[in-house]
Amino acid sequence: MGNEMLMTKKTVEGIEKEVQICKECLMLSTRPRLTYNEDGVCSACQWSHEKKTTVDWAKRKEELKAFCDKYRSESGFDVIVPVSGGKDSSMIAHKLKYVCGMNPLCMNINHYVDCNTEMNEINLKNFVKNGFELFRVYPNQKIERDLDRIGLVQYGQPYFGWMTSMVLAPLKLATKFNIPFIMYGEEGEVEYGGSTELKNKPIYTVDDTVRFYLSGVHPNTYLDKYTEKELYWWLPPSNEDIQKLQPAVAHWSYFENWNSNYNYEYAKKYVGLKEQVSNSVGTYNNFAQTDGILYPLHTYFMYLKFGFGRCSQDVCIDIRSGKITREEGIELINKYDETYPEQFEEQYLEYYQLTKQEFYDVIDKFANKDLLEKRNGRWVKKFKLV
Ligand SMILES: [Zn+2]
Repeated sequence: MGNEMLMTKKTVEGIEKEVQICKECLMLSTRPRLTYNEDGVCSACQWSHEKKTTVDWAKRKEELKAFCDKYRSESGFDVIVPVSGGKDSSMIAHKLKYVCGMNPLCMNINHYVDCNTEMNEINLKNFVKNGFELFRVYPNQKIERDLDRIGLVQYGQPYFGWMTSMVLAPLKLATKFNIPFIMYGEEGEVEYGGSTELKNKPIYTVDDTVRFYLSGVHPNTYLDKYTEKELYWWLPPSNEDIQKLQPAVAHWSYFENWNSNYNYEYAKKYVGLKEQVSNSVGTYNNFAQTDGILYPLHTYFMYLKFGFGRCSQDVCIDIRSGKITREEGIELINKYDETYPEQFEEQYLEYYQLTKQEFYDVIDKFANKDLLEKRNGRWVKKFKLV
């Protein structure tokens, strides 16, 4: 067993700490909750094979139909779809409405910093023009900004406040409108590597939400600073409300084989999605996550903490789908992965109310010194992908 492990296990070169790298894609073992099989293949790659071979998509389609039949109402809305104006949520809303015959109430949670992102506004307007109903929330921006700041400084999570409202506010809306069905996009843990707990589970709970999507930080934590009223969009509904509603919170990726490129083409064709003209910061494609300036910072902190950035994330997806080879992936990662989103720096300082020095101190605090070293004022990789 030991020798076999040595033969199959691949590690990165150039650092003392042992970091495993997937033999198929390029995902590192630093990714939280990621596992590898005995052939040295990560859970996301294993899932990408299962999607093509053993997953019974016809059966899952039937399950979706059963959920839709269960929650289709006589009048009013049947399902809540959180939307960003991007490709994934546009595709899901369109399919739920026109393929599944549901009446979706789409919900957009506006982020303070990104509220005027031109592309985001254009896409949301197109979305509404294409016949969708949109419930837009502008949460208390002073509080959101403060929660984002706490997230950045304490956890290295630049949009923790926004993320919290993203995963909890739709539940609040669900209890108010009595719509027990909520449909999100992809389940990131299963699709991109992490826990495989939700691989065969169509719906999940509030506890799962806190564990997987908020890194275990329950927003109750902030009740020492803000009142329950003030934290309305950041707290889950009461246990009593949850019991009454019995919500079914699901991810579309459970029911249909998730493919970003397909979603993009679909949203362009049916919902009028517009693409960004230049490449997104820190990567080579121009359609993923076109919705804001905090996302590049979020992925930059992922790079600082775990040694893989936004480009790595995109490359791994494209290797799994067969779009690029592993060798091409290494080249792209070497070119883009370490990119610091410098062009937004002034906006970050303004948003988080930090001086440049304080901001850089936070960056230095979260940089993983086992994996990275500082050269010319920027954190670069000490290791080599092979
Ligand atoms: Zn992999």
